[in-house]
Formats: sequence, structure tokens, C-alpha cells
Amino acid sequence: MKRNLRVSAIVFMMIINSANAQTNVSSIFIEMLFPQGKSKALILSFDDGNVADRTLVKLMNDYGLLGTFHLNSNKLCTKDYLTKEEIKTIYKGHEVSAHTANHPNLTDLLKIDVIYEVLEDRKELERLTGYPVRGMSYPFGNTNDFVIKAISGLGIEYARTVGDTNNFSIPSDFLKWNPTIHLFGKTNYIPNDTANDSRELAQFYQLTNDFLKMNSIALFYVWGHSWEYDGSVNKWAEVEKFFKMVSKNPDIYYTTQIGLVDYINAFKNLKFSVDKTMVTNLSSINVFVKMNGKVYTIEAGSTKQLN
Ligand SMILES: [Zn+2]
Repeated sequence: MKRNLRVSAIVFMMIINSANAQTNVSSIFIEMLFPQGKSKALILSFDDGNVADRTLVKLMNDYGLLGTFHLNSNKLCTKDYLTKEEIKTIYKGHEVSAHTANHPNLTDLLKIDVIYEVLEDRKELERLTGYPVRGMSYPFGNTNDFVIKAISGLGIEYARTVGDTNNFSIPSDFLKWNPTIHLFGKTNYIPNDTANDSRELAQFYQLTNDFLKMNSIALFYVWGHSWEYDGSVNKWAEVEKFFKMVSKNPDIYYTTQIGLVDYINAFKNLKFSVDKTMVTNLSSINVFVKMNGKVYTIEAGSTKQLN
């Protein structure tokens, strides 16, 4: 009788322990970190392919920054736009992405014309760059459910709007990708609208400083146009000041937009065992995760034991 009681007590303890263990397991969330275990990522994205991109890209290269450039292939080789011949060399090491062939307002078009604008742009930019072009930004930032449905299945993996979030979140729907903020707010964007310039500039730098201080996962997505700064030494000096602020920071993952999309997809495709003690990474990208306060590197094409 006494012995049975002791056995019951041991079994009871085991049940308690196993219940605790299960509670612990279910509370371990798998957190994505950026490459090298970093928590901050920066995307710089510019539209239109204006000749001022020559100055802009040179400045970015000087500061070791990466850019995503959205181009209208039918506008290239016309007044104020880059030539087709220089695309490959100017944007070397950066990402060339679509912005439609002719820059129409997509929400005004028939489905067949939306499809034409996107595919035609992809096809020509791919010929010019020599790699698959897999993303875009919406002309004028305009989109709706009709446009998103029309571009689904055209090989477009992300599409950016101009709806600034003023935060550092990663969008859940890559085809409705709202950026953090326009470079310098709208300071240089609307000609002659000087009333709010200093306020917008201050707000932009506040956000930049907030980002630099962040410790949790944060994406700072800044977009703009090189033509906004062209013809003004002061404006280019401002661009350089910003580049200097965000460059060469060991805590920041510098990436093109498609680079971040590929990384997030690699994270989402990790195959975990039910108890989360094993994980397989089928992608060609090393993925960094945090579990229970510990950082793990899941090497490309490997299965790893987690403990
Ligand atoms: Zn544009």
C-alpha cells in the first residue's frame, strides 16, 4: 500500500513535469533575426530612373549603401532619363526593379493594359540587366484590389506604395508594401510648398534617430526620387548627411528589397520538428533565428539540432 502511494507520487510528479515541459515548449516562439543576427534592416528605394540617379548611385556607392531602383523601360533614352546602355553598369550591385513600362496610373487601366505595363517592363529590364526582375513600385503609389489581382501571377513578388507608415514594421502582404517614409518627408517633393519643410525635415531625422536606437526587429524603408535633389548643392549635401548617418553601422543589415523578400521567405520556409528541437533550411540563404533568448544560425541547405 505504502509502496503504491510512492509510485503514484512519482507518476504524479512526472505528469506535473511533463505538463511544465509542454507549457515551456508551447511558449517558445521562433523569432526572425536579420542576417548575422542583426535586428535592424535598411532599404533605400528610388523611382523613375532620372539622370540624377548617376549622382545618387555614386553617393550610395561611396557610403557602401544598397539601393532598389524602379525603372520605366519605355522612358529610358528619352529626355531626363538614363539611357538603356548605362543601366547595367550604373546599378551594378544594386537592384533594378519594375515601375511599369510607361508610368500610367494603374488604377485607371483595363486588366489587359495593367498586365502589358508590368510584363513589358519586366521583360525589357531583364534584357538590360541580365537577371530576373521580380519586384515593382506602383506609379504614383496607386493601387487597389483590382490592380493587385491583375499583377498576381506575373512574377512580381513585392510592390511598393507611397503610403508612409512612419514606423518600422515589415508588411504582411508584400504586394501592399507601405514604406516607412519619403526621404526628408515631403520637404523636396512638392515644389514651392515651403511652409511645412522644416517640420517635415525634423520629423524625418527624428524617425532616423529612433531607428538607430531600436533594439527589436525594425525595418527602415526610405523611398524617393533622385530628381528631387538635382540642381541643388544644398539638397545633395542633405542627402549625403543622411547617408553618412545610416552608413557603416554594424547593427544594420543593408539590403535591396528583393534581398529582404528572399530572406523572409527563407525564414518562413524553415521546417521545424513538432517539439522545435530540429529545423531544416532548404534555401540557399543562412537564416538567423532567436528562440528562448538564444540566437541560432540555420545554415543554408542543412538540418540543425536546437538545444
Ligand atoms: Zn514614378
